[in-house]
Amino acid sequence: MERIETDILVAGGGVAGLCATAAFASAGFDTICVDPVPPITDLNAAGADLRSTAFLLPSVALLKESGLWQRLDDYASPLRIMRIIDSGGEDHGVREEANFDAHDIDRAAFGYNLPNWLLRREMVEHVAALPTARLESSVKVDRITPRTNEALVNLSDGRQVRAKMVVAADGRNSLIREQLGVDIKSWRYGQKALVFNVRCERPHENVSTEIHRSGGPFTLVPLPDQEGVHHCAVVWMDTGPHAESLQNMKETEFNAALNNRACGVLGKLELASKRILWPIIAQRASHLYGPRTALLAEAAHVIPPIGAQGLNMSLADLSTLVQLATEARDAGKDFGAPEVLKEYHRKRWPDMAARIKGVDILNRAAMAESQNLRDLRRSGLKMLYGLGPLRKAAMKAGLGA
Ligand SMILES: Cc1cc2nc3c(=O)[nH]c(=O)nc-3n(C[C@H](O)[C@H](O)[C@H](O)COP(=O)(O)OP(=O)(O)OC[C@H]3O[C@@H](n4cnc5c(N)ncnc54)[C@H](O)[C@@H]3O)c2cc1C
Repeated sequence: MERIETDILVAGGGVAGLCATAAFASAGFDTICVDPVPPITDLNAAGADLRSTAFLLPSVALLKESGLWQRLDDYASPLRIMRIIDSGGEDHGVREEANFDAHDIDRAAFGYNLPNWLLRREMVEHVAALPTARLESSVKVDRITPRTNEALVNLSDGRQVRAKMVVAADGRNSLIREQLGVDIKSWRYGQKALVFNVRCERPHENVSTEIHRSGGPFTLVPLPDQEGVHHCAVVWMDTGPHAESLQNMKETEFNAALNNRACGVLGKLELASKRILWPIIAQRASHLYGPRTALLAEAAHVIPPIGAQGLNMSLADLSTLVQLATEARDAGKDFGAPEVLKEYHRKRWPDMAARIKGVDILNRAAMAESQNLRDLRRSGLKMLYGLGPLRKAAMKAGLGA
């Protein structure tokens, strides 16, 4: 049996796993990343991830430190204003509008939006060029056996990896989490998210717009213009049956429903991609670690896609983990020791739990069907926006700053 020794084994080469690989390798750790599915790096390939990710400023700082941002900068759309609209009435128009402007908290932008397929393309190329990183596609973790000083990881191609620390970024159904016996708590909302891109009649002017009516939020996120035509990525959350019927609608019928839901904020919209459905769940692991292992991203927590918190929370986790491992290594200590992993959990748990709760409340408010609850939601938005200090505090909390 071929044996490989490494400092860090990252299980999972999704966006989070690739970020972790780049961050650990840039900090000087020998890092191997394994994933059974070769990354799809072409927008038009079958199975391409049509979602986009809004990276908030603290995440951009981590991407800069990892040397990734230099590759991504040219493709990124700044998010200057986060606009929240409460929609309703007979004409399904705008009842309340609040524009949260990054300038109010002395920032040029809250963050930057990038398409996921492009992120993977650039991340894979970046990781391939790092002398301390190795990406192994088409191979998965089959079994993890933690020992006192290392973890033994059996791969699906028969090889065995000996790693000082394993980073489980193997997604919401994490095999590693299960094998290590870390419990999870999951709950559902009866929603699905329809994800697609649109051509817009008017420019987005770097404003991300979240429209609340019922069923869940409808979000337009800025993308760069393509051949002079304005584009946005859309995440349309709704009840499962309604989201499915939207996915199956003929294009003309769908475009009519789309324009009705978008309140005309960017003029006429037209579908410009396939429509992909994502199930919406929330999930939380009981601990962010197991023996010799740190749980990262959806292996640790899953939340509905609201306020760009999902991957950004994961990158805050990653930043803490890399810092703790680096400090331990530089002090001549074992960076995969239980003390380091417990400290990772201790430092990240309160912020993680608060964000899961906050997104849960926002999602339930956005789903509201009854007129009373919708009126309450509208008043809440008006109050939050109307009180300057509260507005600024909310913007800073959203950023994690
Ligand atoms: C519609 C939508 C929009 C979103 N928008 C945003 C946003 O704007 N901002 C934001 O911060 N977040 C956003 N999120 C959340 C974000 O997309 C996720 O947090 C992120 O993609 C999770 O990545 P992951 O790497 O943990 O999981 P995945 O992308 O699922 O990756 C897990 C990887 O592990 C691999 N794997 C599985 N089993 C094994 C094994 N045994 N061995 C090795 N590898 C394995 C899989 O092949 C896969 O590649 C959004 C989510 C959704 C659904």
